[in-house]
Amino acid sequence: MMIRFAIVPLLLALNFSMCKKNEVVSQNPQPPGASSPAAGTTTAGGSPGVAPVAASPKIKKPVVDQTAQTIIFCYHRLVDKIRYPGTEITPAAFEAEMKELKDHGITVIPMQDLLAWKRGEKNIPPRCAVITFDDGWKSQYEVAWPIMKKYGYPFTMFIYTEGVRGGALGGGEAITWEQLADMRDNGVDIEAHTATHQDLREGHNIMLASTGGKKTRTKLTGPQYEQWVQNEVVGCKQLLEQRLGIKINCFAVPFGNYNEHVKELARNAGYEAMFTVYGQPITFTSPMDSIGRYAIEANKPKVFEDAVKMIGASTSGGAPVAEVGAKDLATQPADGETVRTALPLIKANLSGIGQIDPGSVQMRVSGLGVVPATYDAKTGTLSYQVTQKLREKSCSVFVSAKSQGKKVEAHWTFGIEESPARAVPPAAQTPKK
Ligand SMILES: [Zn+2]
Repeated sequence: MMIRFAIVPLLLALNFSMCKKNEVVSQNPQPPGASSPAAGTTTAGGSPGVAPVAASPKIKKPVVDQTAQTIIFCYHRLVDKIRYPGTEITPAAFEAEMKELKDHGITVIPMQDLLAWKRGEKNIPPRCAVITFDDGWKSQYEVAWPIMKKYGYPFTMFIYTEGVRGGALGGGEAITWEQLADMRDNGVDIEAHTATHQDLREGHNIMLASTGGKKTRTKLTGPQYEQWVQNEVVGCKQLLEQRLGIKINCFAVPFGNYNEHVKELARNAGYEAMFTVYGQPITFTSPMDSIGRYAIEANKPKVFEDAVKMIGASTSGGAPVAEVGAKDLATQPADGETVRTALPLIKANLSGIGQIDPGSVQMRVSGLGVVPATYDAKTGTLSYQVTQKLREKSCSVFVSAKSQGKKVEAHWTFGIEESPARAVPPAAQTPKK
């Protein structure tokens, strides 16, 4: 069965033309407040006179570092001899990139950790990456997986169900259900990438393929389209969940071709996140229905380098930086702690870092910027008494210094829950309605 080979040039052709289009679409400003999980973490405690006195000062969710950033990579086939550079990479080049992430101090995290962070449930490292593989090629099982094991990297597989071996589009190079089950049993995250891997928008050119191998080029509209797209978005999820006994919450959109209708179908089907191929650093407020990934192509090595640079620049300005754990600095407040005052004393002990250039020590506080902190070179203590009330429910502190010519950086986040008595001055109270 060589059908899978046969459709590759077609997919490539679509890929090139569609990527550009997707770029334009993605650059449109998102509607304000679109599915931002950050909204759920702020409560109405800020408005005086509404008597939030009764509200318990408990934090339901752990405080997460909202300044962290992730880049997501998207790979396809791993082959020794490149014939389709748009979707292939050699095992050597792939492994070199995995090594480079490690060398740059970029932590590879599971996709589910990224989603938990977006929900405000779990912290992730300040600079991290997620690795994904699209379409379900057997080289992902045979070649990529051993390399990922070697580095101890988690990853996600985006599968289109008819492209699995035995499906209408699953030829000899396709992954098998047994291989997917093996991956699942060993902790690999498996997610959805439609049934037949096509443009999901109504009225666009698609290929209908029957199991007998017959293919028809057509455009679907109206109820016919609805039935077809339902199977692409929902049917594919159900099939993966049933055959593998897993829960699917991610949807990668082929070529990034979708619209509001498709998004709505996906949301209703229970997808938590939707992915495109428009690479960009993912932040805490990135909309969940258009998470961009960097598609790595053999003939565009710069895409990978740029992605690594993007995330490097976000915290370090491009200079080599060594990250120090907040725990090693005996910070006050501690990472993840919740304090009862909006005017906390912030402290860190830098003596564990080694020899420090005292003039290079700097403290930045979210919402305040660089603050005039005091550094005691004898004890290595850096401290700052906040004098202007912190307004947010969480506060991130960044400490940096130069040690033997190298920039060293640490950051941590604590929560703020003022005691009710102080939060609402008696004079400001108004009668309840
Ligand atoms: Zn794909």
